[in-house]
Amino acid sequence: MEMKELKYKVLENGSLVSEVSIKNIRPCIATEGKVRVLMQLDAPLEDIISSLVPMYPPGKVNYVEKKKILTLSIYGRLITLYPSGKVTMNKTLDKEDAVEIITDVMKAINQAYDNLESYSNDSKTIEKVNIPNISQIGPMDIYNCLPQTDCEECGEKTCMAFSFKVLSGDKPLNECLPLQEPWHQGRVECLEKLLGPEMMNTLGWEGY
Ligand code: SF4
Repeated sequence: MEMKELKYKVLENGSLVSEVSIKNIRPCIATEGKVRVLMQLDAPLEDIISSLVPMYPPGKVNYVEKKKILTLSIYGRLITLYPSGKVTMNKTLDKEDAVEIITDVMKAINQAYDNLESYSNDSKTIEKVNIPNISQIGPMDIYNCLPQTDCEECGEKTCMAFSFKVLSGDKPLNECLPLQEPWHQGRVECLEKLLGPEMMNTLGWEGY
């Protein structure tokens, strides 16, 4: 039997999205005892969905550019966003849990929308909206920009181990202390070129 749709207004004055409807709750195939929740946001995401990509560490993102389908592996859940505003969330406890988590994602969606609005009002910053092709960024790309001294100041045994953790969002870039020395500015520029300013920020670079 189909469940009655449940509507929640979770954000007041959201610039793009503020309401979410739960349309369906099914047992989660991936994890016993958890549920898969089908939701619908109150606006389509087609125009901003790619802008969400640099807001999460590459290791937590799978983006199918052709279909504009974004899957986030965050909060121990798999959350898939579709251009229509449809959302599926696996490994979820219950509907309250789903609403709590989607509220955070909706805040990110509104932030991405606001960013795009401000970029489009400022042609000088238009280059900032270029989205790095995260499917092509691997640990070796990050490693190539690091000091490569395996000094362990970041708490990892090697720069390569640090690269993996940065990509998965488990370590902020700022924990590579040598990178903050002025003589490594070229390496920071290497990372900026690879990741773009927004992804640098997402991966925990706070600057010098
Ligand atoms: S602190 Fe930086 S240079 Fe040192 S091991 Fe970690 S990533 Fe490599």
